[in-house]
Amino acid sequence: MKKIVCKAGDVCIGDGKITVQSMCNTDTLDVAASVAQCKELADAGCEMIRLTTQGLRQVRAFEEIRRQLRSEGVSTPLVADVHFNSEVALAAAAGIADKVRINPGNFSKDHGVAMAKLRDLLQVCKDHGTALRIGLNHGSLGERITSVWGDTPVGMCNAIMEWLRVCVDNDFYNLTLSLKASNTKVMVEAYELLYQAMQDELGMLFPLHLGVTEAGNGDSGRMKSAVGIGSLLKQGIGDTIRVSLTENPVNEIPVARMLVHCMEDDSMDAASREEYIVRTGYRYGKGLLEGGPDDFTLQGSIAGRPVTPEEAEDIKDILLQASRRRFTKAEYIACPSCGRTLYDIESVLAEVRKATERFAGVRIAVMGCIVNGPGEMADADYGYVGQGVGKVTLYKGRTPVEKDIPQNEAVSRLVALIENDKLIRAC
Ligand code: SF4
Repeated sequence: MKKIVCKAGDVCIGDGKITVQSMCNTDTLDVAASVAQCKELADAGCEMIRLTTQGLRQVRAFEEIRRQLRSEGVSTPLVADVHFNSEVALAAAAGIADKVRINPGNFSKDHGVAMAKLRDLLQVCKDHGTALRIGLNHGSLGERITSVWGDTPVGMCNAIMEWLRVCVDNDFYNLTLSLKASNTKVMVEAYELLYQAMQDELGMLFPLHLGVTEAGNGDSGRMKSAVGIGSLLKQGIGDTIRVSLTENPVNEIPVARMLVHCMEDDSMDAASREEYIVRTGYRYGKGLLEGGPDDFTLQGSIAGRPVTPEEAEDIKDILLQASRRRFTKAEYIACPSCGRTLYDIESVLAEVRKATERFAGVRIAVMGCIVNGPGEMADADYGYVGQGVGKVTLYKGRTPVEKDIPQNEAVSRLVALIENDKLIRAC
């Protein structure tokens, strides 16, 4: 099977080594803060850094960030994260970013127009040696796809294969692909389907960028990434990984490194609770996602002492929830935040968690922005979405039910919304 290697800056993806990457959560227009965070990430061992690039002003700021980093000897490849505007993608690809991340379906509602815009972008990438990632997320497939296949792993795979054919037809191979979801079962199945489809239809494997999106924070965020990414790495699927946490992105790097290390040594002896969680997800995630037995007891050690029965039970609960086998607490879907976030998402997520944890099985999304948040919170029952400075919109499923409310009232109104629905259901 022919394996394609994608080259961004001086980093090769798909050459057999797993590349660890992350994304800044600074405002890209704040050049000093972004440069500082890129340096922190690079020092922590991050091998590729993405920055939100929503407009042409951000492209210019990106250029300055890159200039300053290079002048200080930081050579980590930089990726421009572009969502909707193909002009921005073209500008970033023209010698400014090492790599550009897009979802071509967002370039236009008209599929033919979106295809044409992708072809233009491929040409600019070729001219400047710029790499590309085509990334489709569960929950943002668009009606053309969901009306035929639904919002399913099959739909995700078929949608990305359409864009991949355009790349191959245009002899463009400097490419990685991603199909992220916050639901680990959906995410793993989508990547498995794509891995097979590339072999069956094209006879070649493009490098895959793995990630569980909107995984949240703390133990559960780490466990979801370990289950989703670990299940694929274990099968030899995946070339670059990002562990998304709603925390300082620097915290993502050691977790990603632990996951890569599990590929060589999958014992249950860990140096810390964090590593034990990662090892648990890697070891048991795939079997649980496939419906395998869940009547095991976690063994092993943390920092040289045996895991206590209480720890083992607590971590197993987190594992079963991340593997979508048993829900003992509310389920949180939280974006990692980025330059589009207009509030302190880490403290808001902690506040929402404290107020709602008792609603076992209820899926609550906390999203940084109204641009991508509603589309990406996929199968959440309720959503807390940043609308603007100090303003929040609450969602029930995909429907905004309380718009533009003051942020200081949002958590209590979210709780009232859930309680009211529970009362109606109980009647
Ligand atoms: S939902 Fe918005 S704020 Fe959150 S990571 Fe995505 S683009 Fe950034």
